[in-house]
Amino acid sequence: MGNFFGFILSMIYFDKVTKVYDDSTKALCDVTLKIEPKEFVSIVGHSGAGKTTLIKMLLAEEKPTEGKIFFESTNINALKKSEVNKLRRRIGTIFQDYRLLPNKTVYENIAFAMEAAGRTDEEIVADVPYVLELVDLADKELNFPTELSGGERQRVAIARAIVNQPDVIVADEPTGNLDPINTYEIVQILKKINDLGTTVILTTHNKGVIDELGKRVITLEGGRIVRDDPTGRYVL
Ligand code: ADP
Repeated sequence: MGNFFGFILSMIYFDKVTKVYDDSTKALCDVTLKIEPKEFVSIVGHSGAGKTTLIKMLLAEEKPTEGKIFFESTNINALKKSEVNKLRRRIGTIFQDYRLLPNKTVYENIAFAMEAAGRTDEEIVADVPYVLELVDLADKELNFPTELSGGERQRVAIARAIVNQPDVIVADEPTGNLDPINTYEIVQILKKINDLGTTVILTTHNKGVIDELGKRVITLEGGRIVRDDPTGRYVL
């Protein structure tokens, strides 16, 4: 019964999830975790603690060995391929290495993500400038990724992640390649997106980021949740 109410009330619910990879590495062990709509949750832990595995399972890129993962009331591991694609459209992703298309301009990178999601030309013309404004890059729309700084590239990646209005943004070490000033800017933008109503899940090694956020922090150690602090304590 506890599980039943767990997934009914939560946006994201990991129910006793264990992940053992083919080579028998146990990456996650009995992880139970609830994330509510509009939360800002940071996941911290040493390298190898299981952060990326957790994110991959949320995106249905990996299946749990034991346990279940729910997105709202949907068991995501029971989804067909077409339904998985629909789920992924509800989750915007941001990675340490930006993953922009090098042969497309800033504008085209974002427009392409909208085309892939089946949006109309009218929507593209209206929404691309809006999200570029939101990340303060309106003046760079005709530049290519190689002409941008790391912080600017990550802001394009954020604009691309939010343009299809996902319910959740997953940011896996988004500031890993950035200096403190750019890191601060990225954190401010993620906060702004969260304030506008989007759930944010962030993985980070950066204690400064956690302190600046002052939001919920989940600490993973050896694939287990060892701490879940509502107000941002970072202890490793
Ligand atoms: P983190 O993101 O916290 O660094 P990961 O989730 O990447 O942690 O890794 C957790 C553990 O699982 C590590 O021991 C890692 O080596 C292992 N691991 C990750 N991906 C795979 C894989 N595809 N096959 C086998 N082991 C893996």
